[in-house]
Amino acid sequence: MHPVQRADFDQLMVPNYAPAQWVPVRGEGSRLWDQQGRDYLDLAGGIAVTSLGHCHPAMVRALTEQAQQLWHVSNTLTNEPALRLARKLVDATFAERVFFCNSGAEANEAAFKLARKVASDRDPARDEIIATTNSFHGRTFFTVTVGGQPKYSDGFGPRPQAISHVAYNDIDALRAAVSARTCAIVIEPVQGEGGVLPAQRDYLQAARELADAHGALLIFDEVQTGVGRTGTLYAYQHYGVVPDILTSAKGLGGGFPIGAMLTTTDIAKHFSVGTHGTTYGGNPLACAVAEAVIDTVNTPEVLANVASRSAQLRDGLTELNRATPVFSEIRGLGLLLGAVLTEAYAGKAGEVVALAAEAGVIVLQAGPNVVRFAPSLVISEAELASGLARLGQALASWTA
Ligand SMILES: *Cc1c(COP(=O)(O)O)cnc(C)c1O
Repeated sequence: MHPVQRADFDQLMVPNYAPAQWVPVRGEGSRLWDQQGRDYLDLAGGIAVTSLGHCHPAMVRALTEQAQQLWHVSNTLTNEPALRLARKLVDATFAERVFFCNSGAEANEAAFKLARKVASDRDPARDEIIATTNSFHGRTFFTVTVGGQPKYSDGFGPRPQAISHVAYNDIDALRAAVSARTCAIVIEPVQGEGGVLPAQRDYLQAARELADAHGALLIFDEVQTGVGRTGTLYAYQHYGVVPDILTSAKGLGGGFPIGAMLTTTDIAKHFSVGTHGTTYGGNPLACAVAEAVIDTVNTPEVLANVASRSAQLRDGLTELNRATPVFSEIRGLGLLLGAVLTEAYAGKAGEVVALAAEAGVIVLQAGPNVVRFAPSLVISEAELASGLARLGQALASWTA
């Protein structure tokens, strides 16, 4: 008998979540086990976080070795894991400078503050941040306001100002919105929470050109798309469009909390000593784990697995849809895929998630109409096949 149960959640926790009725207690690779010993195939990856699955040996080794060396020193001192991780991120990307924090929201908060600081140093009249409708950038008040889903920023009093939203993938709307007042354009290369909607390449290219033409910065929120998720280390590399600031979190720690903001030397210099900070950011434990994640993910073998498992998942979903036609489209990049429900099943992604769990496979939703998949980047062909088979059972009984 486990001393705590799901029912305790409703007694103990602030009621801002509605977790599933089962409680996972152990994970290995792409499998989880609940309190009753039942196993689940994990195609959700803790919302695109457990990039190497559960308890990957490289992460366990990095964490336990670091746990015996040094846990925390604060930002009055630096530490070796943080410096090693920063070196690897700089070597592998456009970036020359790194800021570490603990989450995606914090990475974006830093990015938006930095963009505003650059603007205020260069031209105080320039303050507008242009983001996209349906975007998601985190839950701090600034990031949730830049996010394009007003329901998440309603009800908390006056919002941060000078933030506007334009339709995603709409070059004309962006062109009409950008002006000499624009300090930054913020884009997710694939809208994750907003429904697994990939950007078109010409849209990102246009955003780059508009930012340059108007003296604004281009920020890519790669919190969900980063660290191999879309098949390249960062999605900007797939698109061939380089941002000024990039944010990373989720998959970066593989389950250990860490976030990072990457940028150039020229932009970074606007954050001088004392302008921004965090107690835990660059924590040795988090950085040691993230280093193991980057070392493992940024290899031809793992990136090739993302491509082949992506094809397997697309094909598998297309096949399931032949047997039980519920999806109108499979979209996304790499191992961030969304299956869009048809008109007849609109609004029912949550139902699919619940039925899938009953059948022993964990999937996610991305809004009411999209079933989202974000499995481990090292998921095996057999594990994925087993997850798809279970999903097939769930869909068959749903539509029967
Ligand atoms: C999840 C997510 C965030 C927020 O990350 P947290 O770690 O929850 O703060 C920000 N941006 C995108 C694109 C995300 O998917």
